[in-house]
Amino acid sequence: MIPLARPELGEEEIALVAETIRSGWITQGPRVAEFEAAFAARVGAAHAVAVSNCTTGLHISLIAAGVGPGDEVIVTPHSYIASANAILYCGARPVFVDIDPLTLNMDPARVPAAVTARTKAIMAVHQVGRPADLAELARIAAERGLHLIEDAACAIGSSYRGRPIGDNTYSPLVCFSFHPRKVISTGDGGMVTTGDAGLARHLRLLRQHGMSVNDLVRHTSKTVVTESYPILGYNYRLTDVQAAIGLGQIARLDGIVARRRALAARYHAALSGIPAIELFTDPADCVWNYQSYVIRLRGSRAPARDAFMQRLLEDGIASRRGIMSIHREPCYTERMGPQSFPASEAASDQCVCLPLYTQMSDADLDTVCAAVRRHAPAS
Ligand SMILES: *Cc1c(COP(=O)(O)O)cnc(C)c1O
Repeated sequence: MIPLARPELGEEEIALVAETIRSGWITQGPRVAEFEAAFAARVGAAHAVAVSNCTTGLHISLIAAGVGPGDEVIVTPHSYIASANAILYCGARPVFVDIDPLTLNMDPARVPAAVTARTKAIMAVHQVGRPADLAELARIAAERGLHLIEDAACAIGSSYRGRPIGDNTYSPLVCFSFHPRKVISTGDGGMVTTGDAGLARHLRLLRQHGMSVNDLVRHTSKTVVTESYPILGYNYRLTDVQAAIGLGQIARLDGIVARRRALAARYHAALSGIPAIELFTDPADCVWNYQSYVIRLRGSRAPARDAFMQRLLEDGIASRRGIMSIHREPCYTERMGPQSFPASEAASDQCVCLPLYTQMSDADLDTVCAAVRRHAPAS
C-alpha cells in the first residue's frame, strides 16, 4: 500500500523529546522559547509565537488585528474549514471570494467588489503551500485600510518573490500549522510570526489566559512575582514536548522541501502531456514546498473523480479529494444560506491529491503515475 502522506521523524526527535521529559519541564517553557527562536530565524521573522495549532493561531491573530462581532473578513471558500471557522469564533462574518482556477488561490481581482464598510481584514490562504498573490493582496489591503493576515498552515518552506513565507514583508501576522499532514509536524501545533513587538506581546497574552507574566519568567525569577490578567485570554499553549519535536523538524526542513520538490518534478515529467490531467507547478518567482501534489481531472465531476480514486485504492494507492469548498458545508449553509462560487466548486470536484512524502521511492512514484495513466477518465 502506498500511503498519501507520512511525517519524517527520527532518532533526533526521539532524543529531544526524551531530554525534555527528563528535564521535568513539559509544558510551555524553555523548549517552546527555543523552538520560537529557531522558527523565527528560519523564516526571517522578528518574532514567532508558538500556539496549540494553526486554527488557534488564526483566532488570536484576528483578535490582535481588532476583528470582532459585526466585522467582515474576506477569505476564499476554497480552503480547509478552519480558515473560516476562526473568523466565526470572533463573532465576525467570513465574506467568501472565489479562486482563480489556474492558481487555486483567491483571485485578487475579485476582492475589491467584496469590500464593504464592515470589512476589517483580508485572510490570504497559501493553499497546499502554493503562495498566494501577496503583493496584490497587500496592495488592495493598504489601499482600503484593511489588515492582511496569512493562513500559511501549509506553507512553511515556501517563498514568494525571494522572501520566505512568514517573514512579514507583506503582512504583520502569518500563521503556520504543524499537523501531520503539513510539511513539518509536532503532532499538533502552530506558530504565528509577526514583525511587530506590540502584536507579539498581545499574542503571548492571548495564548496564555491573558496572564501578564508567563510560567517560565515566574519560575526563574529571584523575587516573588504576582501575575495579573489584564485581558480575556485562552489556553492555546504549545507544550515543551511538542516544541522538542519541532526543533528536530526545523533542522530537517530544507531537506524535506528539497525532496518534496524533487518528487513533484518527477510527477510533472511523468504526467505532463495527458490531455485529461491538469498539473500545477511553481507560480512565477515562487518556491512551492508541495505540501500536497494536486492534479485536476479536467471537465470531470465528483462521481468520476471518486471512481478514479477507488481504482487507485484497488491498486494499493491512497489518494484524497482536493480542497473543500467551505460554503457548501452544512455548518455554513445553515448560517449563511446557499452561496455559489463556481471556480472553487469545480476545483473541489475535479482535484485529487496523490501520495507525496519524503521517504517515497522513485519506483513507488512511478507506480502511482502508471496507475494514474491507466485510470484517468477521458476528458
Ligand atoms: C490544516 C489547515 C488549517 C488548520 O491547521 P490546524 O493546525 O490543524 O489547526 C488551517 N488552514 C489551512 C489552509 C489548513 O490547510
